[in-house]
Amino acid sequence: MSPSHIPLPGSGFIARRAFLRHSAAAFLLAPLLRCEGIAAGEKEFAAADFISVQKGDLPIIISAPHGGTMTIPGVPERKGEGMKKGGAGFFAGRDENTELLAAALAEAIEKRLGKKPFFVIAKMHRKFVDANRPPEIAVEHPRAHEVYDAYRGTLAKFCDDVQTRYGRGLVIDVHGQGSARDTVFRGTHNGATDAMLAKLFGEKIHAGPQSLAGLLAVHGINMKPTDTSPETSGFTGGHIVQISGKHEGIGAVQLEFGIDFRTKDAIKSSAEKVAGGIADFAKLYLLGKPEPAK
Ligand SMILES: [Zn+2]
Repeated sequence: MSPSHIPLPGSGFIARRAFLRHSAAAFLLAPLLRCEGIAAGEKEFAAADFISVQKGDLPIIISAPHGGTMTIPGVPERKGEGMKKGGAGFFAGRDENTELLAAALAEAIEKRLGKKPFFVIAKMHRKFVDANRPPEIAVEHPRAHEVYDAYRGTLAKFCDDVQTRYGRGLVIDVHGQGSARDTVFRGTHNGATDAMLAKLFGEKIHAGPQSLAGLLAVHGINMKPTDTSPETSGFTGGHIVQISGKHEGIGAVQLEFGIDFRTKDAIKSSAEKVAGGIADFAKLYLLGKPEPAK
């Protein structure tokens, strides 16, 4: 089901706003529209306030949808009534400190490569929006839908930008898991979400010593798996890598960090190690002239 078919109250309001954003009249009508669409007592609202964004100069995009802590004014917490729970279904728990880890990772990559990667990092709590689910599971309120669209729309635009400018690129979706504290799980839907990059450079980008997981392991990250053995159930990758990895030339990899990597004390050193692996991967495949697949 496409988002436009979800019968959310007030969705006409969002459709009007989306239309007006693209028209010259938007600037003049915006204040009027806000008065019309937002009930008395509700605060001013800008979806962009709930995501942190960096436009980069490298074919590397970092995403972190589950680390946010902010409440969205006027939006009730999601309930997930009638939805399948956990796994690819409804879940409202936060991936603690992944928002900090993702930001530190962007900095560490810039230090290594001398240019900024792109990023989209959620500031809103997952209780209101789950940016790593299809919209019918992700949101239950029209204003939450705007925040979801801001996150996923920005990410899609960054994928398009990278594709156009560089012809290939890497999306890293940063998450936290509570199953194995010293482990980082690779999630590519078992090679499906990085297949566009494998099409350019061969299967070595997915598994083995010259894959992202293999290179992260060289930098001291306990990666599972680094080879072609099946990815761990529950950590095979979500909706963001699935959709991002459909862009021609873009490989998308979900990284699920155990808590040892994302305590406040560990974040800097984790970010430096992960940036080391990503920079090596970028030098092999993403920077300079693309080599044909062998
Ligand atoms: Zn997550």
